[in-house]
Amino acid sequence: MILLNPGPVNVSDRVRQALLRPDVCHRESEFTELLHGIQAKLLKAFVPGAEHEYAAAVITGSGTSAVESALMSSIPHGKRILIINNGVYGERLSQMVSLPRLGVSELKYEWTVKPDPERLRLALRQHPEVHGVAMVHHETTTGLLNPVKEIAEVVDSQNRVFIVDAVSALAGETIDIAGSHMYMVAGTAGKCIQGFPGVSFVLVRKGFLERMRAYPKRSWYLHLTHYVDDQGRGTVPFTPAVQVYYAFDEALNELLEEGVAKRVQRYRRMAHLIRERMAKLGIKPVLTPDRQSNTITAYYLPDGLTYQSLHDRLKEQGYVIYAGQGNLENKIFRVANMGALTEAQFTAFLDAFEQVCTVR
Ligand SMILES: *Cc1c(COP(=O)(O)O)cnc(C)c1O
Repeated sequence: MILLNPGPVNVSDRVRQALLRPDVCHRESEFTELLHGIQAKLLKAFVPGAEHEYAAAVITGSGTSAVESALMSSIPHGKRILIINNGVYGERLSQMVSLPRLGVSELKYEWTVKPDPERLRLALRQHPEVHGVAMVHHETTTGLLNPVKEIAEVVDSQNRVFIVDAVSALAGETIDIAGSHMYMVAGTAGKCIQGFPGVSFVLVRKGFLERMRAYPKRSWYLHLTHYVDDQGRGTVPFTPAVQVYYAFDEALNELLEEGVAKRVQRYRRMAHLIRERMAKLGIKPVLTPDRQSNTITAYYLPDGLTYQSLHDRLKEQGYVIYAGQGNLENKIFRVANMGALTEAQFTAFLDAFEQVCTVR
């Protein structure tokens, strides 16, 4: 099956084979070696040249666990988080901080609108109780790329902490984590890194890590400093998904061999391939090109075709597309181009798509 959904993604045989490595106890030196390798590779890939300024905490759990861990571990007593919300995943950030009542009124936008850095600057001046700002880098809801660099500048200039959900962006988009002074960036193995779902991570700035130790513990499983401290000693607080870590390690080897910049370019090229062909077929994108990411395109459904029939007919031919969410559920479909897929595979998908659209 060719997966054109935004994770889980198709992985290479090399990554799949890594699942079959020998059984190992996570309290033994073999696991320590594996974990330290993963951490070093994450830092090399995402904070090149600033590896000593960041720590990588690896968590067994889907991407949401890394995001929630970053959020919940970064708020001192009596302080609040401001969420920038322009999609389903921004909404999820809001829901996370509203459970323990740690949010302030969010900066909310329509799902097709980019957040405005100046509006954030104003909000931060008005809310001295706000300690941190959280935003999604790539809003998977529509494929909207948020202005993470501009927002980071405002957050930094106002002496706040920036927490980024880059789960669907890391290895798919350009991001300068160290240069933009981002304090917390959450990612996952199972999207653009081309590993399996089940393991995620947070990159944390070390100076901030020291401050975080004084913050209240809001979760037993997801308290971030707990992971960083244990992992410094080469272990983990809870039983990890060892086999998925093996595959993650191999996926990171592949990523570093290809090069992060090259991976980003490849995804951009594949997205263009899809977009050019869809434009020829008259399929209308939800976003204008200046707002689109490298890895997802959201389209309005062609006239007279329901999502279900489009989906089912493509699936018969081995392709899985993705539905819209929320109020876009019955109006759009999404095509993601993450994963170990070749240009020929995308072209074959586009041929199948054209056939479904023309032969009705
Ligand atoms: C996929 C995704 C997540 C995490 O989803 P999980 O299902 O928990 O892996 C978080 N944020 C964004 C923007 C995503 O695309």
